[in-house]
Amino acid sequence: MNPVYNFSAGPSVLPKKVLQTAASELVDYRGSGMSVMEMSHRSALFEEIIRTCEESLRRVMKIPDSYKVLFLQGGASTQFAALPLNLLSGNRKADYVVTGQFSKKAYQEAKKYGDIRLAASSEDRNNTYIPRLERKDFRPDADYVHICLNNTIYGTCWDYLPDTGAPLAADISSCILSEPLDVSRFGLLYAGAQKNMAPAGLTVVIVREDLIGKALPYCPAMLDYKIMADNGSLYNTPPCYCIYMAGLVLRWIEEDMGGLEGMKARNEEKAALLYEYLDSQEYYRNPNEKRVRSRMNVTFVTGDAALDAKFAAEAGKAGLLNLKGHRSVGGMRASIYNAMPLEGVRALVEFMKRFAAENPKK
Ligand SMILES: *Cc1c(COP(=O)(O)O)cnc(C)c1O
Repeated sequence: MNPVYNFSAGPSVLPKKVLQTAASELVDYRGSGMSVMEMSHRSALFEEIIRTCEESLRRVMKIPDSYKVLFLQGGASTQFAALPLNLLSGNRKADYVVTGQFSKKAYQEAKKYGDIRLAASSEDRNNTYIPRLERKDFRPDADYVHICLNNTIYGTCWDYLPDTGAPLAADISSCILSEPLDVSRFGLLYAGAQKNMAPAGLTVVIVREDLIGKALPYCPAMLDYKIMADNGSLYNTPPCYCIYMAGLVLRWIEEDMGGLEGMKARNEEKAALLYEYLDSQEYYRNPNEKRVRSRMNVTFVTGDAALDAKFAAEAGKAGLLNLKGHRSVGGMRASIYNAMPLEGVRALVEFMKRFAAENPKK
């Protein structure tokens, strides 16, 4: 059987080795006679699983002790509301930068809870670039500034961190664990786990301790970071199995991939292979400004919708799955997250060459 490469934007490919470990422990977790899915979240066994996962995440991401790590549910989209409900504690003001669909949703959701200003947007050029912003572009009395670090749908990412004055909050759903990140530059980071970390169902929040405990009075208990932090993410039943899976993924990053430095080198190699090919020919085109091209999500079009559709269909038959672009952008998108092997990207580039040769444009 030929290998299948899954380029899905999320839920997405997980490391084979992690899936094999999970399979071997699925029915009987390390001699306990139980599956992790069956365990009480208050049991000693599960407490060990969640503690190990948090410790690994702290080590891998070098998270300072002054930050809380929360394992939550509801996806990144729930954080679009939780964030303002927790952080609009001072002046009830926040500034948002819109660089794609998720940051736009975050901005629209936040507007329900305070004085939310659009500091900048890249919608004027279909989110193909990242605005260049300075301190003066943000309100000095904002409680926080929100950005989305990697724009999953458009295939762009921030190549710098803006000087904001106010704490910077970032959605890192589609780039978490892909390369080192200086956590201390942020007040808050959050990510849905299903892109680069675990199966769908887990959301990770990393938040500076001094920012929590000041939630708006009507903030639901389930969204209150302080309540979740005080209870070690066990205020209610957490997504136990996903936390276990995240722990396995983190162990794979540490032990097999050389941590985030190693991950970065591999991800750069994969992205370079694809972008260098894209830049070397004229059949396919990536619309984004070069310096902000994402190393996780690579978009391209042929310029002919019928050819794009044919490409995605034929790639699927060749074992290169889920290459159809997001419905709002069209064309193709190859998501090449941590678990996508270099061979998968090589196979994609070979397929692209073959398809171009076999389907000349009129
Ligand atoms: C996928 C994604 C989301 C949405 O995540 P859910 O967990 O489905 O709510 C938000 N932001 C970014 C950057 C994403 O890639």
